[in-house]
Parts: sequence; C-alpha cells; structure tokens
Amino acid sequence: MSVLPIVLLGDPRLRLKGEPVDSFGKYLHELLDDLTDTMRHAPGVGLAAPQLGVALQACVVEVEGNLHELVNPRIVRATGDDRDLEGCLSIPGYTAYVTRRERIWVVAQNRQGRRIKVAGSGLLSRAMQHEIDHLQGKLYIDYLESMDELIPVGQEDEEEQAEPGAERHTLVG
Ligand code: ZN
Repeated sequence: MSVLPIVLLGDPRLRLKGEPVDSFGKYLHELLDDLTDTMRHAPGVGLAAPQLGVALQACVVEVEGNLHELVNPRIVRATGDDRDLEGCLSIPGYTAYVTRRERIWVVAQNRQGRRIKVAGSGLLSRAMQHEIDHLQGKLYIDYLESMDELIPVGQEDEEEQAEPGAERHTLVG
C-alpha cells in the first residue's frame, strides 16, 4: 500500500484506454490499495488506474465513508441530468460546471472477480461517471466548449454567489 504520484494533464498515459482486467490476484489487489491510499491522501473522492499510469479498467470511489472498488465497470442505466462543479486530481487548481446523469446504475466486478452492482445519485453518481470516463481516456474538460469555462479553485463563489458558509461538495477525482 503506497501513496503514488498522480499522472497530470499533458501526460499521454492519461489518454490511454484501460484494458479489461482478467486477473484478480495480488497485482490487482495492490493496485486497488494504491488507488485508495493515493485518493485519500490527495484528498479526493475517486481515482482511476490511468491516473497512476496503469492502463487497466479499475478505479475506486469513496463517498460518505463508503469505498467502492470497481473493476471492469460499465453503466447499464442512467436517468436525469445534474449540473454541478467538478474537478480532477490530474488537473489541479481548476473546476468547471459539467452536466452529468443524475442517477446511474453500474455493473462491475470486485477484487475477487465477483459481479457487483452499485446504484448512485448525486456525488456518488458523478464520481463514478468521472472515474469510468478516465478508464476510456476521457477527462471532464472534454465536455467543455472552451477552456475559458475552467474556474480557478477558490473563485467558485464569485461565479455563483453561494450562501456564505454554505458547504460545497465539489467532486475531485
Ligand atoms: Zn479525474
């Protein structure tokens, strides 16, 4: 278990499509442990294998104390739309408004290769969509029409005049 350096925007490894995982042994378990340690250290609510330079279909998401290890995940159903601020540990210092599906249902495998289902809305839904995109080499900035839509961290409140003291739950993964 280690905290590892996160691959940053500009590194071509971030754009590689993850290969499907077909071996559920020690290598995968160490990768998942490293993903969790690095995510928590950042801190963030999710991290995908390509962000550690590993082109495999594996990611972790942790929301409200619940850790989800998702291997070979795919979205099987989605409803509604939700627009909110989103950031990425591979693009530090910025956030932007991104429209995602409000609620999704994901089928994946766990670290033993057993089939699991995870349904989520709100932050969990957004985090899973963000991480599953990483497994396809896709980043949230790909949804923006222009890089002018990026908001430097700390200036979000000026953009939308949030209530003073209101707690924001911005995704960073
Ligand atoms: Zn990200």
